[in-house]
Amino acid sequence: MLRGSPERELAAWWEAEAVAATKAQAAKEQVRVDPGAAGEPERKAGEEQPKEPAPAPPCAAEEGDARFPPRPPPTLPVSLAKPEPVSGLCPHGKSRIKGRSCKRSSGQPDEYCSLRPVTVDSSKARTSLDALKISIRQLKWKEFPFGRRLPCDIYWHGVSFHDNDIFSGQVNKFPGMTEMVRKITLSRAVRIMQNLFPEEYNFYPRSWILPDEFQLFVAQVRMVKDGDPSWKPTFIVKPDSGCQGDGIYLIKDPSDIRLSGTLQSRPAVVQEYICKPLLIDKLKFDIRLYVLLKSLEPLEIYIAKDGLSRFCTEPYQEPSPKNLHHIFMHLTNYSLNIHSGNFIHSDSTSTGSKRTFSSILYRLSSKGVDIKKVWSDIISLVIKTVIALTPELKVFYQSDIPAGRPGPTCFQILGFDILLMKNLKPILLEVNANPSMRIEHEQELSPGVFENVPSLVDEEVKVAVIRDTLRLMDPLKKKRESQSQLLGKSLASKENPPHSDLASASQGNANPDAHLPSICLKQVFPKYAKQFNYLRLVDRMANLFIRFLGIKGTMKLGPTGFRTFIRNCKLSSSSLSMAAADILYIDITRRWNSMTVDQRDSGMCLQAFVEAFFYLAQRKFKMLPLHEQVASLIDLCEYHLSLLDEKRLVCGRSGTSSASRLQPSGTPQEAAPPAPPAEGRPQPCTDGAHKVSHSRHTVS
Ligand code: ADP
Repeated sequence: MLRGSPERELAAWWEAEAVAATKAQAAKEQVRVDPGAAGEPERKAGEEQPKEPAPAPPCAAEEGDARFPPRPPPTLPVSLAKPEPVSGLCPHGKSRIKGRSCKRSSGQPDEYCSLRPVTVDSSKARTSLDALKISIRQLKWKEFPFGRRLPCDIYWHGVSFHDNDIFSGQVNKFPGMTEMVRKITLSRAVRIMQNLFPEEYNFYPRSWILPDEFQLFVAQVRMVKDGDPSWKPTFIVKPDSGCQGDGIYLIKDPSDIRLSGTLQSRPAVVQEYICKPLLIDKLKFDIRLYVLLKSLEPLEIYIAKDGLSRFCTEPYQEPSPKNLHHIFMHLTNYSLNIHSGNFIHSDSTSTGSKRTFSSILYRLSSKGVDIKKVWSDIISLVIKTVIALTPELKVFYQSDIPAGRPGPTCFQILGFDILLMKNLKPILLEVNANPSMRIEHEQELSPGVFENVPSLVDEEVKVAVIRDTLRLMDPLKKKRESQSQLLGKSLASKENPPHSDLASASQGNANPDAHLPSICLKQVFPKYAKQFNYLRLVDRMANLFIRFLGIKGTMKLGPTGFRTFIRNCKLSSSSLSMAAADILYIDITRRWNSMTVDQRDSGMCLQAFVEAFFYLAQRKFKMLPLHEQVASLIDLCEYHLSLLDEKRLVCGRSGTSSASRLQPSGTPQEAAPPAPPAEGRPQPCTDGAHKVSHSRHTVS
């Protein structure tokens, strides 16, 4: 349940927005398909010819890449390859006004001429290229399919932040996101939150990291079984680097884990298997929802009103030793099920093996399910998951784009895979940093002849997500709006006839989106910040961590940085000497470095810092529950650091004024540059600031 505000509040908003869309969508679908079909079994399984399963390719970083190797960018129709003149703009990107030149000498204010389309570099878009092209065309923006010598406003990368070297504009990937959503990293990040807020984070199945936690896994399962002999669990083993169901298998007992050699070289997550999923037409399905992380600081999250539902192709049965290996029954991956003879390519958005999520919701609501509650639980799951991911993302961000250096700003579309349990509780399966944005699928036209054909369901959902992400990120929106206001004012003052071309150009610019549907992405954060901000403790810890990192570009805290943290936050005392703090640093850092693969820097990673922080909090505030201990310690640290900052500010000011007092009269102050603080020279502020000012880990 959401704190402070009933879930209904969330639901009320969603009802007005998404649910209305759901109904409209489903009504539309009903007209398209057989009206009697709703609630009835879908087309019978087995209608299609079985296909030869393709050999499993290695997993590509971009979802959907593996089965469909990236194609060269489609040859552009001439009209697209040439810079498309944007309506209302001259070929130079300036206002096209009938009978008037777009030159300055036209006598029109300069603002008319400075309107230009947003530029998008799509040269690295890979499999999202087709959907991106459609989006850019709909927005009447300008695409650079082969890159551009001059900077673009937006760079669209298919895989990662590092696809291209960019120093300005906006890019659709955050540094570190791919690493953050890997199965092990995600499980670790969520586990920290589960330790702090077990109730709030019970939407993620209990997970263990292999091989490190194999013994723990065995011991915990044995303990629960001893306490409850009727417990007959199933577990799912997922390789860390896997995707599209690759290498996943189910087990009934820890001893079934395939330890044979591969585990050391291929770490994995083993997770409680959700045995009672919600079924539709007797089939298990999951939901792919698109989430836009618009900004990290301040945190801004949007959720797409519609997503996709991917269906299994064999009727579901609860796991038993007999059916554990039936992948078409237990795994909902499209990339697997497409190879089942029962896979049904959708000819509408509400039938077949891949459907819109709104069509599922409509069906559920017609059976009396409270879909507002379902949505609000999903929104809550998404916000909480992003809150678990942001602390480490911030560490990556400051490392790749250090403050004060030129760099692009980032946004990212994430694919959330969610399973609904029979009782309608949403469960997070995983987060994809590169959700597939393909809008076509492979179809066997005649035996052995395959062709990529457009997929209605994919196109409907994915084009809207990309297009509306671009609309939200539009860097010229504000400019355009203010220009159109100026234009409006200028027109009024010049007493132009109200229906002149100029006036209509102004109107067009005022609302260039008039021809587009309403935005499919809805803001959920900061909109619901009040309900969720109390969860952002690790985020505040990450801010402390980053403050003491010191060297630009590093992601790990050195021993001096940790000491400075202890000293500046006044955490050492008679019960915690600086020597004890050093030992704490060494112990925790060594353990984490032996577990993590990332050996880029030596030192303490954020998660090790969090562990040390928990330890310190537990020592200092013994009687409180963990999250209160941690919150109290964060408050204390922030308090001491703010005092320190204030003191420095005062010192800085008084330093300046005393320096100016020392200037001989009549000498301009700037003529004598202030002397740099000499090593060992006593500073007027004796709070330790002068000591750290020469350290590698300067507190900035
Ligand atoms: P991948 O990245 O390989 O797709 P997922 O974590 O998404 O890995 O798992 C693949 C599929 O396995 C999911 O789409 C879902 O159908 C099923 N699955 C994964 N985890 C669980 C779970 N804990 N309980 C039930 N089914 C699961």
